[in-house]
Amino acid sequence: MTQRIRTRFAPSPTGFLHIGGARTALFSWAFARHHGGDFILRIEDTDVARSSAEKVQGILDSMAWLGLEWDEGPFYQMQRMDRYREVIAQMLRAGTAYYCYMQPEELEELREAQRARGEKPRYDGRWRSEPGKALPQPPAGVSPVVRFRNPRDGKVAWNDTVKGLIEFDNAELDDLIIARPDGTPTYNFCVVVDDWDMRITHVLRGDDHVNNTPRQINILRALGAEVPQYGHLSMILGPDGQKLSKRHGAVSVMQYDEEGYLPEAVVNYLGRLGWSHGDDEVFSREQFVEWFDLDHITPSAAQFDFDKLGWLNGLYIRKLAPEALAEKLAPRLAARGLETAGGPALEAVVALYRERVNTLVELADSVAAYYLAPTPPEDLLEQHLSDAAKSALASLRKRLATCEWEQANLNAAIKQTCSEFGLKMPQVAIPLRVALLGVTQTPSIDAVLGVFGREHVLARLDVALA
Ligand code: GLU
Repeated sequence: MTQRIRTRFAPSPTGFLHIGGARTALFSWAFARHHGGDFILRIEDTDVARSSAEKVQGILDSMAWLGLEWDEGPFYQMQRMDRYREVIAQMLRAGTAYYCYMQPEELEELREAQRARGEKPRYDGRWRSEPGKALPQPPAGVSPVVRFRNPRDGKVAWNDTVKGLIEFDNAELDDLIIARPDGTPTYNFCVVVDDWDMRITHVLRGDDHVNNTPRQINILRALGAEVPQYGHLSMILGPDGQKLSKRHGAVSVMQYDEEGYLPEAVVNYLGRLGWSHGDDEVFSREQFVEWFDLDHITPSAAQFDFDKLGWLNGLYIRKLAPEALAEKLAPRLAARGLETAGGPALEAVVALYRERVNTLVELADSVAAYYLAPTPPEDLLEQHLSDAAKSALASLRKRLATCEWEQANLNAAIKQTCSEFGLKMPQVAIPLRVALLGVTQTPSIDAVLGVFGREHVLARLDVALA
């Protein structure tokens, strides 16, 4: 029987879920889904000072928005303290961990001496028992830390599913502190116990964790646990090749929602950020799950490209039926205080504008003037609503009051007005745009009239001509 794939996403709720974390979550999720396995969500909240319920909620909301549903969890490390203590006690009994009574001052002294000799500062194993070695007497009144008895010799190596073979000399690794003097377990240890208990088969995480992996593997081995496969995802860089920062879009996933990106587009974009399937750029979530594998994750850093995300988002906006798009847009307009109910049909208006925008915010900006009469700047009015232009619009108003409300007839009404006043098309169309929407450029003017509807057009012309 083949092993059931179990992956996990293990964010620390010390900040929001940003684009890098979201990609890690997406890849872990997709790998589990691709294999019909399980995806587990674990909240690594042991940094109590920097974690908060609000940040946890932000992460859960972001996962939900991206559509990354988990099968088990969320598990919280703070609720698993007893279990970590139990494993520490077990390791102490088995001799794979030991008490160390070294005081911070002593450690500092040791380090200084090592530095003075030009050596790398490291723990010297003074409380580690060895055959034939007499350990010092534990000092009175000192709470010890617990250290992991790391193998002294040999190497610890793994075949990283992203980066290939990685190995460390055990001699390079200190005997890691796994419990503090008050008994609380340390970060690397909690991760190990969790991955073991949660029967994780594949760990995908950022490559800032590469240095933790040899320690985690050694502890897992000491526990007699199966070692999962590790894949360390390379960093995401900004378009300028620098580490991704807020300025580049390393903002909360939820901010992408605020800025009018669709989750489908963000998921598609993240899917291509360090993974590829030939030259395919546009694919659905289902297609991604079907294609996703670990072989095509690029070991080099990926670059965040805002223009590409915008381009993809525009595609996904246009994939939506106008009704569905209108439904997504209505709450955004309502949030701006715009009432769409009595105005032109929103699905007709968005159908007219969706070709021209890349985000829902741009779409809302474009259609807002249909629902709240704009107040164009004076100079625009002066330039385009001259007396001559107003006379033409007044005549056009008469035609529009009675003509059949069909695009061809609307177009004919404008043309007749042009010839009546000896004007060219733009000389009527531009003042008309300014009068109706407060801008000089819109989609084709007869289409604009069409979706606006007679009642609204006449009312706005009356205001402009008053
Ligand atoms: N909690 C860690 C982080 O947010 C991830 C640990 C892991 O995936 O092993 O960076």
